[in-house]
Amino acid sequence: MTEVNEETESATESNGLRVGVLALQGDFREHVTALRALGATVTEVRRPQDLDGLSGLVIPGGESTAIERLMRLYELDTAIEDFAGAILGTCAGLIVVSHLELADVEVERNAYGRQNQSFETELDLGDGLPLRGVFIRAPRVSRYGDKVQVLARYGDDPVLLLEGSVLLATFHPELTDDPRVHRLFLELAETWQEPALAGAVARED
Ligand code: GLN
Repeated sequence: MTEVNEETESATESNGLRVGVLALQGDFREHVTALRALGATVTEVRRPQDLDGLSGLVIPGGESTAIERLMRLYELDTAIEDFAGAILGTCAGLIVVSHLELADVEVERNAYGRQNQSFETELDLGDGLPLRGVFIRAPRVSRYGDKVQVLARYGDDPVLLLEGSVLLATFHPELTDDPRVHRLFLELAETWQEPALAGAVARED
């Protein structure tokens, strides 16, 4: 049996984990770039069959009404409801996730105002390193269930949330160079892909 030690390079950076990015509308290319930079093999998802063999799916920012309309057109709404891997929903993607009821959250669209009220701020992930949050016509999570963990807040508002293997951001981690949110998503996808292995190398945190 292979010994796992702290020197071992994280599997997410080396094993070509296969994940997808919903590529119907919005800033999917930035997510693809961020995930490839972390060593993942990335598929642009435009049809239900594109989900086959993926361990995770990103639903990007953009315009949730347009994404949802195209998802229905290509029957991706039901396919994503059935998708068993990890999910990262950012901004409009978070709205889509809430509408598909993939996480127990309710959202208010455009809660901080229109385009000219978009803003950037430093967020605290609890690790001492500020994370730059880019908020563009961002939604606000107005309610979340008991199983939802809040990983970061802006004021009182939860802006980074985790429920099981569903990670949600009301901001745009793909528009900065900080890899932490995408790395966490890949860890969730990896855990989902190899539950036995994940148990064997259970992390401290
Ligand atoms: N306001 C958009 C919506 O409601 C989301 C904006 C974004 O993804 N940056 O879908």
